[in-house]
Amino acid sequence: MENKEYCYLTQKVNLRLNKAQQTFLEDMFYKARFIYNYGVNVFNETLKSSGKILSGGEINLHFVKNKDGFTFLKDVSETLIKRVFENLSKAIIKKVHSDSEDKTLRFKDEKTLFSESFLLSSREFKVVEIPNKTHHYIEIDKNISPIKIKDRLRFKDCPIINGTFKKELDKYYCCILYKVSRENYIKKLNYPVLATKNAIGIDVGLAQYLTASSGLNIEANKPLEKKIRRLKRLYKQLDRKVHPRSADDPTPKSNNYIKLSKKIAKLHTRIVNIRKDNVNKIASVLTRNFSAICMEDLSIKDMQKRKSFAKRAQDLSFYELKNKIKQKCALLSREFVEANKFFPSSKKCIKCGHINESLSMYDRVFRCENCGFEIDRDFNAACNLFKYMKNELRWGTSKLKPSEFHKLLSDCDKNKLKYYLQPLGSNQIENKKDVLVSHESQSTPYNYA
Ligand SMILES: [Zn+2]
Repeated sequence: MENKEYCYLTQKVNLRLNKAQQTFLEDMFYKARFIYNYGVNVFNETLKSSGKILSGGEINLHFVKNKDGFTFLKDVSETLIKRVFENLSKAIIKKVHSDSEDKTLRFKDEKTLFSESFLLSSREFKVVEIPNKTHHYIEIDKNISPIKIKDRLRFKDCPIINGTFKKELDKYYCCILYKVSRENYIKKLNYPVLATKNAIGIDVGLAQYLTASSGLNIEANKPLEKKIRRLKRLYKQLDRKVHPRSADDPTPKSNNYIKLSKKIAKLHTRIVNIRKDNVNKIASVLTRNFSAICMEDLSIKDMQKRKSFAKRAQDLSFYELKNKIKQKCALLSREFVEANKFFPSSKKCIKCGHINESLSMYDRVFRCENCGFEIDRDFNAACNLFKYMKNELRWGTSKLKPSEFHKLLSDCDKNKLKYYLQPLGSNQIENKKDVLVSHESQSTPYNYA
């Protein structure tokens, strides 16, 4: 895999605002919304009069021509305007490709919005330190004092590309986009340069969240599951509130509907944050401790359609996890191998290589029809993925030294990941060579027998 010299990373920081600063940001949100709604108006009017669908770029030109009519917009930055029309373009594309007959766009209404934002380039705001103060501040305008950042900045020495100022459910944030070099990334996030050839195959699944060929199983985040169930309940309640049932339904959204949907949005954000945090932690632990990682092609998991709400949410976290691991591997010079779509990681016997076609998705234990070998289904898949990777790379060992294994487990502990070790009964391994991967390591602190 190609190694990257730098990457773009965002840090979303909380802002502490005084009244004047809040008014200033609100004013900026208002301007961004005004320009957006101006664009929506032009789009809808053109569609009504001539049936023509304008692009975001065309509407942008229209705006630039007429901008002088709006004196209050004269200080608005180019970056902000550009981002607004990018968003409008996205909305247009989404609308054009949607099934609905009505192609008119909706206006942004302050009352029903959950989040608002505007973008500034690094020339239009500055992150500064103030002598004798521990926090950092954002300088955005001469007329207001610097805005306090509540969080510690992770990449404060790296160049800033831009910043998106956001208001989400009455809280204010700034998403600062940094250009982070590889050295900085490794240094700041405490990644060791690995000289080992330790490799790991990973199987992800609904029954067991993550099973690794080293015998480590990481459990799904339990509080998250609870929250997902709560979200589902709230959605059912929401459906009973008065609201338009289709795109042409003129019924307005009731106040209760808006109130409840804000509550849902809050819970949604919470769930997304927990999920991302969990995914980041797992990806960090794995890339910190292994030089090569193999995962399956996740598109096969799509085969079961019509999944429950919670399962779909978990699926999403599989994709996120894979992307995160891939990204980190590229930055940290680790190998990432994705198994071929047709590689039967679940159905192949790790001992004799026989393909067990009769294995259904409900079988938790893999029983080989050919040699009679029995093994945990996900563990079998993880070991197969490890073997696959070893063939691809022509290197890789699953044998962690006791000290390395200890480090891996303490890293899991430090990140509060719930894990357990693959319980393999001694009757399952008669000969150590049977499970040719990972379990050569009988000297590691955990012994199966
Ligand atoms: Zn077999």
